[in-house]
Amino acid sequence: MNRIKYFFASALFLIGAMAIAQEEGEAKPEREPGHYNQSKFKQLYEEFSTPNTYRSASGAPGPDYYQQQADYVMDIELDDKNAKIYGEETITYHNNSPDDLEFLWVQLDQNVRAKDSKSPLRNGNGVNIAYTAGNFTQTYITEPFDGGFNIEFVKDANGRPLSYTINQTMMRVNIPQALKSGEKVSFSIKWWYNIPDHTVNRARSGFEYFAKDGNRAYVIAQFFPRMAVYSDVEGWQNHQFWGSGEFALPFGNYDVNITVPADHVLDATGVLQNRDEVFSKEMMKRYKAAKKSYDKPVVIVTQAEAEAAEKGFSEKKKTWKFKATNVRDYGFATSRKFVWDMQAVKIGGKDVMAVSLYPKEGNPLWEEQSTKAVVQTLKTYSKHTFDYPYHKAISVHAKNQGMEYPMICWNYGRPNEDGTYSDRTKYGMISVIIHEVGHNFFPMIVNSDERQWGWMDEGLDTFMQYLAEQEFGRNNPDVIAPNEKYPSRRGEAAKIVPYMGGDQSHISPIMSNPENVYQLGPNAYGKPATALNILRETIMGPELFDHAFKTYAQRWKFKHPTPEDFFRTMEDASAVDLDWFWRSWFYTTDYVDIGVKGVKKYYVTNEPTAEMKKYMEDRNLSESDFPPLVYLAEEDSDDFMPELKGKSPTETSQNLKEFMMDNMTEAERTQVKEPKYFYEITFDKPGGIPMPLIVEYTYADGTTESVTYPPEIWRKNDDEVRRVISSQKELVGIVIDPKLETADIDTTNNAWPKKEEKSDFENFKENIKG
Ligand SMILES: [Zn+2]
Repeated sequence: MNRIKYFFASALFLIGAMAIAQEEGEAKPEREPGHYNQSKFKQLYEEFSTPNTYRSASGAPGPDYYQQQADYVMDIELDDKNAKIYGEETITYHNNSPDDLEFLWVQLDQNVRAKDSKSPLRNGNGVNIAYTAGNFTQTYITEPFDGGFNIEFVKDANGRPLSYTINQTMMRVNIPQALKSGEKVSFSIKWWYNIPDHTVNRARSGFEYFAKDGNRAYVIAQFFPRMAVYSDVEGWQNHQFWGSGEFALPFGNYDVNITVPADHVLDATGVLQNRDEVFSKEMMKRYKAAKKSYDKPVVIVTQAEAEAAEKGFSEKKKTWKFKATNVRDYGFATSRKFVWDMQAVKIGGKDVMAVSLYPKEGNPLWEEQSTKAVVQTLKTYSKHTFDYPYHKAISVHAKNQGMEYPMICWNYGRPNEDGTYSDRTKYGMISVIIHEVGHNFFPMIVNSDERQWGWMDEGLDTFMQYLAEQEFGRNNPDVIAPNEKYPSRRGEAAKIVPYMGGDQSHISPIMSNPENVYQLGPNAYGKPATALNILRETIMGPELFDHAFKTYAQRWKFKHPTPEDFFRTMEDASAVDLDWFWRSWFYTTDYVDIGVKGVKKYYVTNEPTAEMKKYMEDRNLSESDFPPLVYLAEEDSDDFMPELKGKSPTETSQNLKEFMMDNMTEAERTQVKEPKYFYEITFDKPGGIPMPLIVEYTYADGTTESVTYPPEIWRKNDDEVRRVISSQKELVGIVIDPKLETADIDTTNNAWPKKEEKSDFENFKENIKG
């Protein structure tokens, strides 16, 4: 290489480096050394555990993945008069792990309501704003409710007593010999407890008492000692049940007999084994009709029949027998007050029964909307995950409840006493039914650990709930007018702004244990649901997202996934690097705020700009040391000369003109439309989360152009970036995120020229006040 050429090459390199520096902005001096190592785009190797043979790096179960199994045979009896429940159960526990287990952990969730429960003692919140009369009475006036388990015995398969140790809501069963890997053990527990009034103390299970007719309606769950999960991730998951962190349960098969007053109507997890014994002839006839009714529910027990039954108080008993295969839990609802309807729905070529149970107090709302909402849930969720595998899905009306179990759930939404109801009550009811029935998919089948990760079921379910609600709106013109959208409470980006833009001292990362977070609703439901919605709509697009989300559901149905299994699968199935997204949305409390900071106008010139002159001076160079150069002169600088205005670049730059003459054919030159306007736009990012930079440019002729720069535009400079655009038309306006897709917490900086507008957050505050 001769000297001149070598010099040329290095000068060009420097020019190139200058261009890059201008394009991406220079690092600010206040930045810490090592800033780029702390990039938001750094991969999550430190946060994620190392993949192993149980869980693969792809996010799929590994070759040695295992899970335990717990089978139950139970006889349950409800004492309606005294509101007590009695049970005897035999658990057969299969140790599929590679480990020998010296003891077994059984969950006694009802002990959270024991007289000596520590749960009420650990909260230090001071005086509440207000109390329900019932809650006040229970907290300050009456004796604490005695709702803990009374364990009568724990016995081995030969009827010999087994020693056990109760630590709050956990019971260690001290088996005489370790349960070897690959072996199983059976043992029995006899128990009873006092059923709480769930309307008083926000229990997830219990009864509601109807003073007018003297009846109770029961929704019963967490009612039997249940095996804890043993896994490759936690060992025994024996964190105490304090009340907020829900449940971690192994799959198993259930054989359950439930004895209740003979005039009760009951439904439960599992296939009813003795329908002939518990149904009247008339009910049987209606049930057969319901199996063929795909367009509307068939009433199995009418309101008139339920009202007649309310007066009966039968002294006789009836036993309802159920079997359930591959479920992680068990629940049932029973009362003589229940109206019952059913509708068939085809899912993947198989018939599923959509079922509703409600006292007359739920009507007319419940007979109109409940089963319809169940049907929509099964259809939408199955489409996005896997075909609903069970034979029925039941929605039970229970005051103030929203709680889920396999095949059955409790839902609020009660009309006024005269039967009228507000839109708020109606949409609240439809939404909670979609949500709770949707929990069949997450976590009842995609069986995540709720005790550790609230968002894995609540967030994914709330995201799917949004999709199902929108489909419900489109499919039910009698509920939602054709030109309107279902008013989803959560899911849309803008709805999470008040939370994410709120007081940082009362926000926790999504990746937190549900017991330890402030504002569990937005933390575990709203924010992850919004994050997934943004991923689907804005970052990945529905095609890539839906395939990846479905892959996750398929990989982990009837298994126990962790957050990483989800994060990894979403990347594995889409080829979209999302570490930056998981990091900022799930591991931090950062928010989104992206704005346009300024716009500079430039003109093409042949004259070296002041910056170029200094560059040459510093290095003792002259123009002749470079190939022919073209410069952009800023309008508001000394470089600008009025004669540049209104001219095309080839008119103002001889170098450019000659280059085009030498390198382009006549035909090519006539094709060229020379841009007249050059702008450098500075975008800034006061918020911590890098997001796609969605820009709408508006030109003088009224046309607009939308450009989405990928989130990686922020990879080297987290504070601000600059883009140069050229155009034949004058740029008159810029709007960032015009459709409010990114949950930007402050939109006052989203426009150029700056508009006098209220921020989203201020609008929200006003709406809340109104
Ligand atoms: Zn939920």
